[in-house]
Amino acid sequence: MAPSSYQQPSRGDKKPGKTVSQSVDTNMPSETSTVAKILERKGKVVISVRPGDTVATAVGILREKHIGALLVVDEAGALIGILSERDIVRKLAETPGQTLPQLVEGLMTRDVVTCDPADTLDSVLKGMNDGRFRHMPVIEAGKLAGMISIGDVVNQRLLELEYESLQMKQMIVG
Ligand code: AMP
Repeated sequence: MAPSSYQQPSRGDKKPGKTVSQSVDTNMPSETSTVAKILERKGKVVISVRPGDTVATAVGILREKHIGALLVVDEAGALIGILSERDIVRKLAETPGQTLPQLVEGLMTRDVVTCDPADTLDSVLKGMNDGRFRHMPVIEAGKLAGMISIGDVVNQRLLELEYESLQMKQMIVG
């Protein structure tokens, strides 16, 4: 039974809309930051291998640098592919015991989706989600200018949300 204070809506009543505090959109920053913001913190470091390097070399770099993907560049430093731990795991299953001596060019993804420093983090997350990958090289003026991972994007968004919550608390306290 409905509480006594409850009044059943009648036909003439306006449909209740979402309140501001219920909307996910309004709880997000009005201005989302960009890839450039991540590069400010992370730097424009690009860790890469050459297509003729072995998977053993790539695995060693992934381990040493604590990263999940490597960019593959040619002798001029131009981006020609990406090799992620997922590519290596797949090959390990396909060629057990014979993967480490194989060349990076045989495992890498050649059609690489890149982003620009001016891209918003929301658009990058959407691109990663649509493409089902977790890394995106950054290209600035036609040149490699860094690499961001889904972890970098999520961390940046968390920092922003923390900052906003602090700002709201300060507004309330005065
Ligand atoms: P990841 O989730 O980043 O470990 O990668 C999953 C798969 O997507 C692997 O086959 C990668 O080679 C590929 N991949 C990763 N990043 C990209 C990217 N930016 N563009 C295209 N393919 C990618």
